[in-house]
Amino acid sequence: MRLSKVSAISLDLDDTLWPFGPAVARAEATLLAWLLQHAPKTAGVLASPAVLRDLRARYEGKNPHLAHDYRALRLGSILLALEMAGEDASLAEDAYDAFFAARQQVEFFEDALPALEWLSARFPLVAVSNGNADLKVTGGHHFFRAALSAGTFGTAKPAAAIFHAAAAAVDTPPAQMLHVGDDPDLDVAGALGAGLQAAWLVRPDGPHTAQWQRGGARPHLILSDLQSLCRALAG
Ligand SMILES: [Mg+2]
Repeated sequence: MRLSKVSAISLDLDDTLWPFGPAVARAEATLLAWLLQHAPKTAGVLASPAVLRDLRARYEGKNPHLAHDYRALRLGSILLALEMAGEDASLAEDAYDAFFAARQQVEFFEDALPALEWLSARFPLVAVSNGNADLKVTGGHHFFRAALSAGTFGTAKPAAAIFHAAAAAVDTPPAQMLHVGDDPDLDVAGALGAGLQAAWLVRPDGPHTAQWQRGGARPHLILSDLQSLCRALAG
């Protein structure tokens, strides 16, 4: 497919502007340290941050209706750890706050901020994320006209509604929106299904490189970094 007129751009956040894995790993290490300090009996059930990840997966398995509510999933899994350890369940909210603050400590990919600067000078930008990063805390907020997240908007990618809301936020017809993201299903198929154009960002060590090798999606553009998006739009 060839790119047609682009009047505005929506961007995914996790694994598009910064690597998600290291941010979550740091946040889980912070959460573990917080729990060991404030609820010391959790030491008996939490041998490593990996246990926190397992608890969250277990909690999600039992609560599929919460699949896109990352706060509820994390909070529920913290409660589970506190209960298993015989600790005070009322500590869960404060523990979550410690996790959430650490989750916002992201490290942008080298190309991300220069690309956002270039793009934002030429196009209105909208963030569209299923995660719960807060651009005001991570940095980069000033490049965006609007930010939609599944948690606050109520619908997650790949549903068309969140893409249409992104287009409406910058008064642009969906067909003139270009959505950029790393996930071939949530970002590429989602955007195409909503009538947007799509750019698939496949970073060399990204989580979806194998799908790219199998030819997993049919976007308008395939990018290895965000500077190449600027080049494509400048040309
Ligand atoms: Mg992503």
